[in-house]
Formats: sequence, C-alpha cells, structure tokens
Amino acid sequence: MKIPLVDLKANYASIKAEIDDAIRQILENTSFIMGPPVQQFEEAWSAFCQVPASCGVANGTEAVRLSLLAVGVGPGDEVITVPNTFIATTEAITACGAKVVFVDVDERTYTIDVNRIEEKITDRTKAILAVHLYGHPCDLDALKALADSHGLALVGDCAQSHGALYKGRMTSHCEDISSFSMFPAKVLGAFGDAGMVSAGSADLIDRVKLLRNHGRVTKHEHLQEGFNARLDALQAAILNAKLKHLPGWIARRRAIAAHYNEALPEGITCPFEADWADHVYYMYVIQVPDRDRFMGAMKEKGVSCGIHYPIPLHRQPAYQYLGHGEGDFPVTEAITKKIVSIPLYPELTDNQIDYIVDCIKQIQKQGKTAQS
Ligand SMILES: *Cc1c(COP(=O)(O)O)cnc(C)c1O
Repeated sequence: MKIPLVDLKANYASIKAEIDDAIRQILENTSFIMGPPVQQFEEAWSAFCQVPASCGVANGTEAVRLSLLAVGVGPGDEVITVPNTFIATTEAITACGAKVVFVDVDERTYTIDVNRIEEKITDRTKAILAVHLYGHPCDLDALKALADSHGLALVGDCAQSHGALYKGRMTSHCEDISSFSMFPAKVLGAFGDAGMVSAGSADLIDRVKLLRNHGRVTKHEHLQEGFNARLDALQAAILNAKLKHLPGWIARRRAIAAHYNEALPEGITCPFEADWADHVYYMYVIQVPDRDRFMGAMKEKGVSCGIHYPIPLHRQPAYQYLGHGEGDFPVTEAITKKIVSIPLYPELTDNQIDYIVDCIKQIQKQGKTAQS
C-alpha cells in the first residue's frame, strides 16, 4: 500500500462537483479581483471564528505580516515567538522592520512556554506572536494576562489551527488579531495561495483591508501606501465551497487521532492534548526512539512521513545574525531530534489507518528484537 503524507487529490475527489461549479462561476463572470466571493468568504470565516470581522489576504505569510502591522508593530520593535515553527512566522516579523525574539516551547504541547516569556520582555517588546503548532492551541488565558499586564498585543499564527478550540471557544476569540494560511495542505486549504486575518475589533480589520489593497479608500484615492496582498477571487470561491465541509473534516481528524492514540504501541509518544485544548491535528506528530530507522522502515512499507521541523529557526543560517547557539532553546532542540509526522487527513480510509498502525507495530517489535 502507498500512503502519502498529504493527499490533495483525495480531497478534491471528495468534493469535485462543488469545486468545479465554483470555479466555473468565476470564469463565466470574469470577476477575478475582490468582489462578492471574497466578501462572502470573509463573512463566513468571521462566523466560523466567532469574531465580528475578517479580511482575505494573499497568503498566510502576508496574514501574519498585516496582523502585526495592524497592531502597530514597526521598525525597532521586538516580537516574541518560538523557534519551533515554520520560517514564515519570523519572516513576517522581520518584514515589519521588527526584531525576532525567541522563547522556548513547552515539551508536551510544543507551543510557547508561557513561564519563559517575561524574562524576554523589554521596553521595545510590542507583541507576542503565538503559534498554535500542529493545531494545538497555546495557553491563551495565560498569554492574554501576560500581554495585558505589559501592554503587548497578542497575535495568533493560526496557520495550522483552523477550528482549534481553547476552553471551548475558537482561538480568535481570545486573541487581539489572528492570522490564517489557506495554503493547499492546511486544515482548510485553497487550490493555490490564500490567507485570512480575523479580529474582535472591526477597526483592526479595516486597517488590514487598507494595507492589503494599496491603501485604497476609493478606486483612485490612496490614504497611504499599502501592498497588493489581496485574496484571489478564484481561491475565495473555492474556500466558500470547502468551508461547509470543515467541521466534518476536523471531526474526522480528531477521530483518527483518538484512534492512533489508542492503537499505537508502547514506546511511541503520542501527541499531548492539554485540558484546555481541542486539537485539530494539522499534523499528527509522534516521538520515536530511533527516528532514522523508523522513517526508513515506514518508507519501505510505502507510508510517507515527515519532520516538522528538522532544523529549528535559531539554528538556521538565516538567523545566524541573532547569535544563538546550540543549547539556547533546549526543549525545541530535543524535540527536533525525535519528532515524526505520520499521515493524518480526513480522507484516510479505515483500511489505510489500520495499515499505518500495523506498520508501526511491526517496526517497534523489530526494534525491540534488535535490542535484545
Ligand atoms: C503555513 C504557515 C505559514 C505561512 O503560510 P503561507 O500561506 O504558506 O504563506 C505561517 N506560519 C505557519 C506556522 C505555517 O505553518
């Protein structure tokens, strides 16, 4: 059996008629820029996130950047985030002219360790950029209390956590502003690049709307310089068609995760779900004793796995200028050496899931025999 880590073809096949119809309508109207599909998706996304306002943008990296700009992050400011994330998180900080300040993660949730933030706060700190990695929400009450007590903005990088709940509510409900990526492989993915920004404050979203479309207030009037960072109408139409399936897809992701948690053998560390969290399992990330052997054996059996992420940001050549070394973020470094992402997506069949579990059981058994 061959099982890819992500299967976009299976996703398309499951909703082909609806997607084809949505695309055809845009082609026939030739309304490719802004217009009703974008507005419709913004309204639907706000309702989904339980906030009053949203703004469609070009991709998730722009979503983070425009969120930071909207809360006033600029040159000379510092933004606190984690080294255990995709580089888009920190690129967005630098793109605002601000400085990246890393804080290590919690060893169980893989998200920011709230207890280590205060020591990194300076006069220049402007925001905390919380990454809900793999779809597990950060401890948002603790983050909000800390941010409020220091006058900082709390910005969410929700690129991996569409629909994740914190104490029963959407994470956007707890953040000043939240950014999403609809990159094709994400929990809700477009058929190309797309992103969203959502907030409890309509004023913040108005700022994002100004920035994404050349600072334009009317067709020919520009209040300030902005960017071309609009959500493409074709992608908005596709996202509109997909959104009604999202709750069902998330439920299926959670059901598969529950099954893995139950069925995977001893020696495998399954993902942790804090009592405040409804994890959405963008990635199902396990820790295994001997990763090279594990991944090699899985590949031989036809199951694709991945590592998210093999090199933490503070060890990337791109961030050498920050002057960090090995040992600066020990939890992230330790996790990085042991984690493996195994296939988990709504379209996985029960047969495929059983096969993946059997493969892992066999590999663990062989490992034990080899050791004894
Ligand atoms: C995917 C991702 C982004 C960026 O999204 P793009 O749409 O690819 O620009 C940002 N942050 C995290 C954590 C991501 O996983």
